[in-house]
Amino acid sequence: MSCIFCKIIDGEIPCSKVYEDDLVLAFNDINPVAPYHILVIPKKHYESIIDIPENEMEIVGHIHNVINKIANKKGFNETGFRIINNCGDDGGQEVKHVHYHILAGKKLPMYEAEKK
Ligand code: 5GP
Ligand code: ZN
Repeated sequence: MSCIFCKIIDGEIPCSKVYEDDLVLAFNDINPVAPYHILVIPKKHYESIIDIPENEMEIVGHIHNVINKIANKKGFNETGFRIINNCGDDGGQEVKHVHYHILAGKKLPMYEAEKK
């Protein structure tokens, strides 16, 4: 049985698409925590970032290029944004298909790692 994000890639589950190419899909998070909350995922299923083999790591560079394109298009390249990748249970990863969150459109609150 394929994972929920693979189902979105296959069109079995609808999404609000922001960007797509041969390698990645970007869509709006169903439960946004900021005015912009976009998920960028590789079309190839990797459970988490730690599972991407060294010789396939260029997908991460591609994802970052796509994030920049989206930021430029939406205009939050000027105001700033945050990229989050949750990895594994301690990292708070709920969906086990690599995804990068892009949060933007407001001054974002401090996150856990910054708290003393
Ligand atoms: P994680 O906690 O794994 O880093 O983040 C998973 C994210 O996926 C959450 O922010 C959640 O709201 C989002 N999400 C889960 N299921 C769906 C879905 O079916 N559609 C969309 N658009 N987002 C989803
Ligand atoms: Zn998947």
